[in-house]
Amino acid sequence: MGGILVFGEIGQNGLQSITSELLAAARGLSAGSGDEVTVALLGSGADAASQDAIARGADKVYSVQDPLLEDPQADAQLGAFEAVCIEVKPSVALFGRTPVGRDLGPRLAFRHGVGVAQDCIEMTTDSATGRVVATRPVYGGNALAKVTFPGDGMQVLVVRPKAVEPLGADSSRTGEVVTFNPGLDPSIVRARLVQTVRQESEGVRLEDAVVVVGGGRGIGGAEAFEMLHELARILGGAVGASRAVCDAGWIDHSYQVGLTGKTITPDIYITVGISGASQHMAGCAASKNIVAINRDADANIFKAASFGVVGDWKNVMPSFIETVRELVNS
Ligand SMILES: Cc1cc2nc3c(=O)[nH]c(=O)nc-3n(C[C@H](O)[C@H](O)[C@H](O)COP(=O)(O)OP(=O)(O)OC[C@H]3O[C@@H](n4cnc5c(N)ncnc54)[C@H](O)[C@@H]3O)c2cc1C
Repeated sequence: MGGILVFGEIGQNGLQSITSELLAAARGLSAGSGDEVTVALLGSGADAASQDAIARGADKVYSVQDPLLEDPQADAQLGAFEAVCIEVKPSVALFGRTPVGRDLGPRLAFRHGVGVAQDCIEMTTDSATGRVVATRPVYGGNALAKVTFPGDGMQVLVVRPKAVEPLGADSSRTGEVVTFNPGLDPSIVRARLVQTVRQESEGVRLEDAVVVVGGGRGIGGAEAFEMLHELARILGGAVGASRAVCDAGWIDHSYQVGLTGKTITPDIYITVGISGASQHMAGCAASKNIVAINRDADANIFKAASFGVVGDWKNVMPSFIETVRELVNS
């Protein structure tokens, strides 16, 4: 048994960023163990994304083809990945902490009678045992735990998006592409995809934005987000929010940043009326610069902020926006 197997995710534009991140994590582990890095890409987009996967760190790509994989259906995806596991016999299986990875990782671990490390943010190899040591936030993000895997069974890790920097695409890298038919039995599919509803969103994706303007409970209501959207538009950025305002229904949960929301890594994160609770910081701590606007000088957010304004956002934001507009247009 050996090797690192990545569950690859493909979108309309090819390899998803999480797959590049997992390949970078796998290469990091492989540097300690010498293990081969294999990625399983499922469905019709797999062939087109294979070379990109090699350029980003895979030694081998399984292009997994089966009619049951045409719909994004978890039972079929699990069956297909399990079939690749039987071929590859990996010692490590890596999933992204995405809706599909969160679902499949524990299910694969259960099938193998092993544990799963969820929400990993760092992974190393223990030189004495050769086993993976994973770091993961615990107690609502207030502490970090290092966990390892007893025994010699498969090590299943679910990795937080944006926790690992993807490698640059190296088109000179070479690797093998294997077309693989998992021979799925239709009876394994116990749920049926009834409808796909695409969520329309304007502008930059929150997770990819270079500038994020985040609103918290301190802004007082849903209407205030208009001003935040305006600032984000001027800066070509995206709007984010704390959980408190999402729970209050001021903005949709897809805007939530934090432990139970999205992880962002912008160059500038401008927070307005956000206190900086540890669960919020868990999703934005990797921002290069945090700018805080908060009327409480003792608010936790100022500990992480590079720049801050202590004041009521209603007084600060209009002149802040006008100054930014002038700078952008100058
Ligand atoms: C298991 C768990 C998971 C969680 N996951 C998340 C998560 O993913 N994301 C997340 O955000 N939270 C999460 N939380 C909730 C988190 O603990 C906080 O409750 C939340 O982040 C607080 O949001 P907030 O900063 O908007 O509100 P508050 O903590 O109420 O802060 C409001 C801030 O606004 C300031 N303010 C008030 N009025 C003004 C004004 N007029 N001008 C300027 N400033 C003003 C106040 O000084 C205060 O600092 C989680 C909690 C738990 C237990």
